[in-house]
Amino acid sequence: QVRVRFAPSPTGALHIGGVRTALYNYLFARKMGGKMLLRIEDTDQNRFVPGAEAYILEALKWVGIEIDEGMGAGGPHEPYRQSERKPLYRDYAEALIANGKAYYAFDTTDELDAMRQTFESQGSAFQYNAITRTRLKNSLTLPADEVKAKLAAGEPYVIRLKVPAKEEIRFQDLIRDWVNVHSSQIDDKVLLKADGMPTYHLANVVDDHLMDITHVIRGEEWLPSAPLHVLLYQSFGWEMPRFAHLPLLLKPEGNGKLSKRDADLGGFPVFPLEWKDPSTGVVSRGFREEGYLPEATINFLAFLGWNPGTEQEMFTKEELIEAFSLEKIHKAGARFDIAKAKWFNQQYLKQRSDESVAALLGDALPAHAAAIVHLLKDRVTFPQEIVTQSRFLFEAPEQYDEQVIAGKWNADVEGVVRAYAEALATAGTFNAETAKEILHQVTDAKGVKMGKVMQPLRVVLTGAPAGPDLMLSMEIMGKEEVIARLETALT
Ligand code: GLU
Repeated sequence: QVRVRFAPSPTGALHIGGVRTALYNYLFARKMGGKMLLRIEDTDQNRFVPGAEAYILEALKWVGIEIDEGMGAGGPHEPYRQSERKPLYRDYAEALIANGKAYYAFDTTDELDAMRQTFESQGSAFQYNAITRTRLKNSLTLPADEVKAKLAAGEPYVIRLKVPAKEEIRFQDLIRDWVNVHSSQIDDKVLLKADGMPTYHLANVVDDHLMDITHVIRGEEWLPSAPLHVLLYQSFGWEMPRFAHLPLLLKPEGNGKLSKRDADLGGFPVFPLEWKDPSTGVVSRGFREEGYLPEATINFLAFLGWNPGTEQEMFTKEELIEAFSLEKIHKAGARFDIAKAKWFNQQYLKQRSDESVAALLGDALPAHAAAIVHLLKDRVTFPQEIVTQSRFLFEAPEQYDEQVIAGKWNADVEGVVRAYAEALATAGTFNAETAKEILHQVTDAKGVKMGKVMQPLRVVLTGAPAGPDLMLSMEIMGKEEVIARLETALT
């Protein structure tokens, strides 16, 4: 059975790219009839940000990514928050020491800094590896009794992976195909820190193994770590999951990687929900608050790096699941195309029922909400625009479009408008239909063509030469208001 995981670190707001990673995991799991896990990777306590975990859960819920197992859902491998699994990682690090794949290292920060400086002054970067490790203070270089004594004395140490000196590390990525890295490129990475916390690499590999993860689907920024993870699986003697590294998200102009800072620079949201940074107080925009619908957001995100190979662009979540496959994910970076995101939103807004859009707007439309939504939803990109564009319904125009008045307002039209105001005053039911009927009666009686009247009528009622359905607008304005506006025009 396919088991995938989304494993964010709660170091701040979840980036929209992270939501895409979660989405691809989710679509793949659903497609394969597998399970989607959520694991919180919070072993780096220096980078822990309060509120970030709750934000991640809320963001996934908003876009409709359901978690089968893990944080917020429970399951057989609890706990799913790595900081709560701390003791377990030590056992695994020590198991690697026992089988000769890892070692204790006692170097102090000062000693490592000095080493780094020596290397840098000679123009090369310091690596803790098969060559340099012989010059450092660790259990591979110190006599066994000295190591024992240090451990017994409680001297601080880290546990490092013993990366082999000359080995080609290979694995086949489902998106990038074969990846080859020589072991000399890899540091003897720290697996367990001096405070007993595992590093990302150890915790990630141990948990993916213990949680029976079959496919690791994650962002391209983790590709450089993958060979190290492969080495770790080999060192433990565990079967590896398959890897799939997703293409980068690029800025709208295609010039480089989309970063968290772009939210403020480019004026478009790069977070799913609004986020207030707890340390700076800076608020970043969110897709949700900007007025993006969740169904538009996932359709947009699904296409950032994947394509069904057909002309179809509009996909419900169920259709995405049906069409999704890892083979169709691209290698090249995907441009974050904000115009496309808006297009998707328009399409989905049109599809939504008037009532559901009205519900999104809450109290912003105090009266006739569903009718106003119906009138305007095909003309806007975001629901809030319906509110701003509906003002003319409640506020009589302060001025009229001059061009229309100069060109089309004449004695005939004035006669029709006067007769219309009078006819409306005595009419029974008032709605879009009767308003239209009565207008037809009046123009017929006066022998004036409808086409000559419509635009000037619109201008005296709304001020503008064009806009949404006039009869429906009149229905929402109400009979009294319509008559009042017509009378204003006649005086
Ligand atoms: N905790 C890592 C992150 O924040 C997870 C990377 C992975 O999926 O292995 O993205």
